[in-house]
Amino acid sequence: MARNTGKLQINSENLFPIIKKWLYSDKDIFVRELVSNGCDAVTKLKKLSLLGDAELSSEESFRIDVICDPEEKTLTFTDNGIGMDREEVVKYIAQIAFSGAADFLEKYQDTSAEEEIIGHFGLGFYSAFMVADKVVIESLSYKEGAQAVYWECDGSSDYNLKQSRKRTRGTKITLYLNEESYEFSNEYKVRETLEKYCSFMPVPIYLSSKEQKNEQQEKKEKREPVQINETVPLWAKHPNECTEEDYKDFYRKVFKDYKEPLFWIHLNMDYPFNLKGILYFPRIGNEYDTVEGTIKLYCNQVFIADNIKEVIPEYLMLLKGAIDCPDIPLNVSRSSLQNDGFVKKISDYITKKVADRLTGMYKTEREEYEKYWDDINPFIKYGYIRDEKFAERMNDYIIYKDLKGSYITLPEYLEEAKETHENKVYYVTDMARQASFVELFNKEGTDAIILNKAIDPMFIQGLEFKNKDVRFMRIDSDEIDIFNEKTNEDEEKDLKEKEEKLEKMFKEALSRPELKIKLKKLKDEGSAAMVMENEETRRMGDMMRMYGMADPNAMEDEGRTLVLNAGNPLVKILLEKEDFKHRDMYCRQLYDLAMLSHRSFTGEELKEFVARSHKIMELLGQEESA
Ligand code: ADP
Repeated sequence: MARNTGKLQINSENLFPIIKKWLYSDKDIFVRELVSNGCDAVTKLKKLSLLGDAELSSEESFRIDVICDPEEKTLTFTDNGIGMDREEVVKYIAQIAFSGAADFLEKYQDTSAEEEIIGHFGLGFYSAFMVADKVVIESLSYKEGAQAVYWECDGSSDYNLKQSRKRTRGTKITLYLNEESYEFSNEYKVRETLEKYCSFMPVPIYLSSKEQKNEQQEKKEKREPVQINETVPLWAKHPNECTEEDYKDFYRKVFKDYKEPLFWIHLNMDYPFNLKGILYFPRIGNEYDTVEGTIKLYCNQVFIADNIKEVIPEYLMLLKGAIDCPDIPLNVSRSSLQNDGFVKKISDYITKKVADRLTGMYKTEREEYEKYWDDINPFIKYGYIRDEKFAERMNDYIIYKDLKGSYITLPEYLEEAKETHENKVYYVTDMARQASFVELFNKEGTDAIILNKAIDPMFIQGLEFKNKDVRFMRIDSDEIDIFNEKTNEDEEKDLKEKEEKLEKMFKEALSRPELKIKLKKLKDEGSAAMVMENEETRRMGDMMRMYGMADPNAMEDEGRTLVLNAGNPLVKILLEKEDFKHRDMYCRQLYDLAMLSHRSFTGEELKEFVARSHKIMELLGQEESA
């Protein structure tokens, strides 16, 4: 074969500078591109052999070798796949691959960051020029009598083609790294990159590094190569073949999470599209741990990227998992993927599978379901808010812990509430703080559910939106009247008169003009005063505080009512004693005690409360010694 030089087919002098600049942040994808080309070359050869078009020895063992040379600053990829002959190198590398890369860049060089291409597919072989000044291909085709070929290109549009002395079948690609990319001659960097993209590719991949030259031996040593990947990932196996240990191992390895997952779902679908994967429900460390998952997307065992929100419903990203979907069109921009009906079907399928698993568990393993509930409920609630279909599927399977400590569903609660508070759901957000209300509820035998997670305020809105007749009310809501004694007209009149008196007293003592004062006859005479809130106003305030939109103290008393209990002795004293010397102090103390159920005192308030309590004790002491 004669020496030969050629010109790349497309007149695109600026292709290489663009490639080099392209997505600088993850230029490591060239590793994925070159290794997966090697895998393809092996797969093609296997196929030919199956068809009887290529002869292979029975001892054939296919592999890809990645070899770093920190001294020469090279990185080499070798496969023993199908190989290429001279015509094929010209056609596939110099023409097709080049035009593919050129097309790709022409299409996307102006696109903005949001128009990012998923996984940056499409650059293929030419992505090597992101890190290399010069690339050499040596290849020997599987075809009988084939001549090995040597191709060299230095990143200009000219290349060099000549005969090679390569003796073994397959392709060897050597990258002469550019200065900014020397890190890719370091074994650790390459290992990390291989583990990221190639952990589950279907052909064994071995990594090794040539060690620095040894002074005496004057010869570079190559250490034993180590296999990087697992050629059959767990998701590709049939669920029947996988043990619990397998699932846990996979989880530990892939997600580096040493807390055991709660449970998992093995997705295995062939028709009408191909999708395999495993989704894990992670254990949440404690209440304050952020729930943050990772869904790794693969395409034919090649890693694409984490958490691609165009493919995976957002709420599923609270889980951890791997999804392999060969049919996803990845060589398009994210925005077009988002509008792709096919992608929508994929995410609907995943949603259905997740909901099926959860509802199945509810139906047949209710105990387990309850056991996991604390961990999984933020996920389910988030999904409920974000995904219409998921919400529909889960609506009757969301459970709530009640005051008795057992779990009930919304329909169950509503059924129980029919007699006393139809279509109203009472809830607690803080068992300790709202303890005095909980006590009243317990005495009354009325149930409430506990909604104390950060997501619950949003979740409640979602529930009300979807269950139009139902209203949620916090246990201290001013609309709750279950613990009021029934009163007749005369009693009402009497209460009204007394209320006016008390209102005057409290207004004088408290200087809280917005605070409403009410006198009620409660069934339980034990509590003297409590602060109740208007549900809507309170929610609005909570929301504004959450978003930092309001000074938390600015509209404090809006929607708040101090409810005094007519039957309580402490309140009676106020009404009966005309010349009450310490009345202001007494009123303030009553108010503060009621406020304890609502929020913490500020420093000033606490100081005042303690000083006042001391004063009260002093008065008690004086009385004792008088
Ligand atoms: P793609 O892999 O998407 O087809 P590439 O630019 O990566 O695009 O490669 C172009 C073509 O070059 C491949 O389709 C294949 O025919 C050939 N090729 C690349 N690498 C190899 C290899 N290691 N062995 C055999 N053929 C290869």
